[in-house]
Amino acid sequence: MPLNIIFFGPPGAGKGTQAKIIEDKYGLKQLSTGDMLRAEIKAETELGLAAKKVMDRGELVSDQIVIDMIAGRVDSPECAKGVIFDGFPRTEAQALALDAMLKARGQSIDIVMELKVDDGALVARIEKRAKEEGRSDDNVEALKNRLAQYRSYSAEVLPYYNAPREIAVIDGMAPIADVTVQIENILNLGQAA
Ligand code: AMP
Repeated sequence: MPLNIIFFGPPGAGKGTQAKIIEDKYGLKQLSTGDMLRAEIKAETELGLAAKKVMDRGELVSDQIVIDMIAGRVDSPECAKGVIFDGFPRTEAQALALDAMLKARGQSIDIVMELKVDDGALVARIEKRAKEEGRSDDNVEALKNRLAQYRSYSAEVLPYYNAPREIAVIDGMAPIADVTVQIENILNLGQAA
């Protein structure tokens, strides 16, 4: 059976970094709606140009856009071993749509992990990433808004996943390799590597 995981956490928590490590080591597929949107922007598609304005303000793009993006990917052969959902779902409507998509395939979300990092550390990490990657939403104003958005959408989405299972809390302040070990332990993957 595929293993489907959600990585939940604020901007700069390390979701993308950890998702890529787990993808490389275990063959799960990272699906990041943020990365998909940035690819649309880079390709200068109509969708990308419209999304950029919203993203640059640090606000959420519409549910239908991200739901369609995910729906277009979950059946690809790369997802056969399972998916790490990174930055999705961010609303209850997205969570419901994801559940329906997976259910239609006889699957479900196996585990939800919340990466926790102090706000101060997030700001420092985003400032560093701004220099390295030049993302147009990695600036102080947009970040403030993205953190505010995170607080509001996590209050909406986390309770949805808190029952019947528990959300696994990860200490995202630890060094990268230690965070990976925490994730592997929760997934019981460590020994298989
Ligand atoms: P991220 O790379 O996950 O931080 O996402 C960057 C930006 O893309 C966010 O600030 C939103 O504007 C947009 N975005 C990414 N994923 C979603 C989502 N699931 N729902 C709505 N907007 C999203």
